[in-house]
This record gives sequence, structure tokens and C-alpha cells, in this order.
Amino acid sequence: MTLERNTAIETLRELVESTLGGTNPQKKFIDNVVPEKILDLFPPQDVLRVAFEYGFIITKCSADNKLRANGCWIDPTEELAKRIETYDNISHGYCDGCCEKLLKEYSLN
Ligand SMILES: [Zn+2]
Repeated sequence: MTLERNTAIETLRELVESTLGGTNPQKKFIDNVVPEKILDLFPPQDVLRVAFEYGFIITKCSADNKLRANGCWIDPTEELAKRIETYDNISHGYCDGCCEKLLKEYSLN
């Protein structure tokens, strides 16, 4: 199933709206509201864009600023990288690559 770009983001917004049902998105991740299998149908950048719009918690890698969208870590577009700078609902973590590096560093010492 592929969706046309503009309608895809609209569809995602509608899904979020209908599932949120007035609850506070600031205490949730977007994948708490829309099932992962459904989110997988959308480009990760769109998932993040909608997560920003609604104020969901967004996970950012502390080391290289990658953003987590529906289970995978992605390099943010310029637009999203700018947006995360002033966003205040961030959960910090480590992406797979940075976690590997950390593990290597610690196991060498
Ligand atoms: Zn990282």
C-alpha cells in the first residue's frame, strides 16, 4: 500500500486526531496512539512532522541528533533538525550506531 504524499500526511493527522480523543499528546509517543504497523505505511519524516505538530514526545540521540520515528533512527531533514532545537518535549537516548560506539569504548577500558 502506498499513499500519495500530501494525502498521506493528512491521513496520518486524521488518525492521530481520532485516536487521541482529547488526551494529552505531551505525555505520549506517537506510536502509543497510532499502531506501529500503521505508522510503517508513512514516511518516517511525515511521522516526525505530525509528532511535532501535536506535541508528542520525540526521542533524540544524545550523541548525533538522529531522531526516532516508529522504531527506526533517522537523520532529520534540515527542517526537522531546526524544529527539534526549540522543541521542549524531548526524550534523550542513543541510536544503535552511537550505542555500539559507546559499548566499544567502555569495553576497551
Ligand atoms: Zn546516535
